Amino acid sequence: MTPISTPSGWSSGSEETLRPAVVQDAVTGRVLMLGWMNEEALRRTRETGEVHFWSRSRGRLWRKGETSGNVLRVVEIRLDCDADAVLVQALPAGPTCHTGRPSCFHREPEGGEIPPPPGSILHRLEQVVGSRRDHPEAGSYTAQLFAAGPDEIAKKIGEEAVEVLLALRHQPDRRVLEEAADLLYMLTVGLSLRGLSWDAVLQVLAERRGLR
Ligand code: AMP
Ligand code: ZN
Ligand code: ZN
Ligand code: ZN
Repeated sequence: MTPISTPSGWSSGSEETLRPAVVQDAVTGRVLMLGWMNEEALRRTRETGEVHFWSRSRGRLWRKGETSGNVLRVVEIRLDCDADAVLVQALPAGPTCHTGRPSCFHREPEGGEIPPPPGSILHRLEQVVGSRRDHPEAGSYTAQLFAAGPDEIAKKIGEEAVEVLLALRHQPDRRVLEEAADLLYMLTVGLSLRGLSWDAVLQVLAERRGLR
């Protein structure tokens, strides 16, 4: 972990300043929760490698997961430009929200419930692909792929992989990017066929890097 010095002005007399701390999943990029940190919470987070907050409702230091076991293990801590907000990338030991959901951000402003926030456009693509698989739409290319079956999807993945390598050897950067995007789309369809997710793939990459 990169050492950071405690920003000056964090304790101002008896009224200690609280800073919002955003916790993001270090593997998926998903935003997990927002809490408040005082100087001690930041220090404990750095020293222990587990995320600590100042609990405003309980008026005490709070190690996230202290009773549930769903701790947040620190990968990286950074401050914003003027050092009044914290961003923590962490590995969650379990669901971060006390409702049992992976992220606290599961509510629509209108009052409904929505799935965990996507960490990237790839996760959004995966949601769309999954919905085409489950509810085929007339005229949808993705729905046609699922209808054509696993052999056809496997063939398409192979074709896109070849297009990537041809572009890498002979074509401009933009073409390489387009073909790489095609391949990621086709891989998303392939994963979806088996009920697998990009999160699971990213988890494998994380494990290879010793993040787990
Ligand atoms: P935990 O820190 O996970 O052991 O949970 C201890 C208590 O903190 C729970 O009973 C909840 O009231 C509260 N809590 C846990 N997780 C969250 C969260 N993500 N956001 C707000 N409150 C939480
Ligand atoms: Zn700021
Ligand atoms: Zn929550
Ligand atoms: Zn292509």
